[in-house]
Parts: sequence; structure tokens; C-alpha cells
Amino acid sequence: MGKSTTECRYSTFHAWLKQVYGERVQKICIDAGFTCPNRDGSKGTGGCLFCDDGGSAASRGLAALSIREQVVRQMSSAHKRYGANKFIAYFQAFTNTHADVDTLRRKYNEALCDDRLIGLSVGARADCVTPDVCALLRSYTRSYHVWLELGLESSNQATLDRMNRAEHVEDFAAACAMAHDAELDVVAHVIFGLPGDTHDDCMNAVDMLNRCRVEGVKIHNLYIDERAPIAEMWRRGEVRMLELDEYVRWVCDAIERLDPRILIHRLTGEAPGERLLAPQWVRDKSSVLSAAGRELEWRGARQGILFRG
Ligand code: SF4
Repeated sequence: MGKSTTECRYSTFHAWLKQVYGERVQKICIDAGFTCPNRDGSKGTGGCLFCDDGGSAASRGLAALSIREQVVRQMSSAHKRYGANKFIAYFQAFTNTHADVDTLRRKYNEALCDDRLIGLSVGARADCVTPDVCALLRSYTRSYHVWLELGLESSNQATLDRMNRAEHVEDFAAACAMAHDAELDVVAHVIFGLPGDTHDDCMNAVDMLNRCRVEGVKIHNLYIDERAPIAEMWRRGEVRMLELDEYVRWVCDAIERLDPRILIHRLTGEAPGERLLAPQWVRDKSSVLSAAGRELEWRGARQGILFRG
């Protein structure tokens, strides 16, 4: 099937998309001009310490374009570059449920402007998930595959507090339950290596994802973006970064205990180009994935071998 050994040892979203749609499906990242309750004062100010001033968006400068322009341009370039013909509209920057339902509907509809779009993915804080938001997202499931992407980041409340997250671990569990009541798929985001978090804390986060029965997970290591508040702590020597081999071991430990029905959307971070201060190894995504594949092979391990459902 052309799958790498790595992919065979865990279930990837990429492989699932290929199986379901029979071809490459490209995510289109959108900055819809939202802000975040941890920045506008409704929950807090200053944002999470690891978040840059672009709201953790992979691409910058998108917000200057209309949502439709962002979608059309990126679909065109992904078609030229990869031959992609199917796409997912991914509302990525900041908190994409942080508005009234009419505004949300208008923005989501503007993105879904082309027949080649097969999915809608919405990134949000757990405390910005309401029954009305879930009902709106559910209305799109008649025509699209819909994912709600929620940041857990850490299941250790002390770590979240230290990172100025202004959110409770229980908010994540409640949001998952609400989304599942609306029959939405949840993709959880987790960061390994946040200051104060141990290996046990990271494994506890994985166990929580299993308990919350999420459908997908994105894991990445902590990296320092020069435009995130944590950059100052790093410059003062207050943040220990995970080494590559350490991160690979932790990720493989996580894969071993992750419920085998959870799809892995990502195991590495998206390095913010010239703004990356540390660690430098995060720039080379393929070597991280290869190292994880070798480690799993050496262990004879695969996703879920330590999962006790
Ligand atoms: S990580 Fe999310 S919740 Fe935290 S400041 Fe950035 S956009 Fe807001």
C-alpha cells in the first residue's frame, strides 16, 4: 500500500484520508480575523505564554485577505504544487468559535465556497464550545466532514496556570462531551515539554484523551517562537527544552498507550521559520518522524499495545 513502517505502527489521519477519499486531501489554513478570550480580556490577557501574536497560525499575513481569497489562493497553489483536488477548510488562527453564531455561520459559509472542499475543521478553546456552537457545526455534517480541534496542551492544571492558559482541565472534558453529544469528531492538541510537565504528566494527558474518547490527536514538542511571551523565559534560562531523542521516546511511549482507534494527525511541530529560537531540531520534521518510526520498530511496538480500555 506504499505505507511506511512508521505509518503501519500507528494510525495516521493522512492514511485515513487517502483510504476514505482515494487521493490526497489538503488542509487550507484560514485566519478569519478572530481573537481569543485569553487575549481580549473576556477570560484573560496576554495569551498563553507559548502562543505567538498570530494566534498559533502556521501562515502569516493571511488575515489581510478575505476568507474566500485565502481559500481560493491556497487551493490553487496546493493544486499546482501537489496536484491536490480535495481540501479541508481549517479555521486555525486564534479561537474560531469566539463570536455569535450568526457571525460564525457567515465566516464558515464564506470558506466553503468550492465543490472541492470536503471538510470543515475548526480550532477552538474548550471553554468556547457551547451547545449553540455544536449545533451549528453539526448542521455542516450533512454535506461535510467536520472536526472540532480543541487545545488540551497539558492535563496538569498547575502547568496550565503557569502558562497563563486561563482555562481548566475540566473544560476540555466538558467540551468533548458536548461535541460528542452533537456527533462531532474531536481532535485534541497536546504539547510535550511545557515547563514543569514531567513524562508522567504527558502520559496522563494521553490517558485523559483516551477517557474523553477523542477521535484524533496532534502532539508536538514545546518550541520557542521569538514572538511568544515564553521567549523571555527561555532567554533567562528558565525553560529546559526536550532533546530530540527524549521527545522521540516520550512520543513512542504516548503511541503505545494511545487508544488504537484514535487517529494521529501530527507528531511534530510546525517550526515558525526565522522566528524559531529553539530547539533547532524541530525544523526537520521528517527526521523526527523517522526517529519515532525506528524507535517503535526497535521496541516492536505499535499504537495501543499498552492501552487498557
Ligand atoms: S494558544 Fe489559543 S487560547 Fe492560548 S492565547 Fe493562543 S489562541 Fe488563545
